Amino acid sequence: MPGYGRIIEDLIERLGKLPGIGARTAERLAFHILKSSDAEAAGLAEAIRNVKTQIRPCQQCFNLSEGDLCAICSDANRDHAVIAVVEQPKDLLSLDATGVFRGVYHVLMGHIAPLDGIEAGDLTIAALLARVKAGGINEVILATNPTVAGDGTALHIQSQLAPLGVKVTRLARGLPTGGAIEYANKSILSDALNERRDM
Ligand SMILES: [Zn+2]
Repeated sequence: MPGYGRIIEDLIERLGKLPGIGARTAERLAFHILKSSDAEAAGLAEAIRNVKTQIRPCQQCFNLSEGDLCAICSDANRDHAVIAVVEQPKDLLSLDATGVFRGVYHVLMGHIAPLDGIEAGDLTIAALLARVKAGGINEVILATNPTVAGDGTALHIQSQLAPLGVKVTRLARGLPTGGAIEYANKSILSDALNERRDM
């Protein structure tokens, strides 16, 4: 079977390794790039190179950053006494997009998962403890995912923070806004009951 040649096939193969991109889409993308202007194609290559050379973890919170400190850590208008602990930079973005939280963050870069070989020491927990020990922190909000791994990670961090005497909270869980009780599953309903609040 005649192929497109080594150079085009290399591009198709690399594009096909991207998540959610099948062989057909990879082929379509490769030909789109081939047809696009030199400037457009060079811009794409440059953007890929830039994220690998210029984006690094924030020295304080491990969020993705273009400098030593990320935009959130260097924002003096935020409450630096409240830290929300999340698993991934994407979680940080989702929480921050709500506009409800004006504190700062700490990105764990994953969750504890012994079966996958991820131990507490592989995460940024030591750096979090150091931040709290340095003082000036009023509250640590454990905003890990409401999953077995996320809960386990939150419990581990809570036990590490306990001797430091800082207030530790966990995100509430329960019914999603706009949801209906009749369609909620048992675990959501039991969370909603357990986390009920005064009104
Ligand atoms: Zn930061």
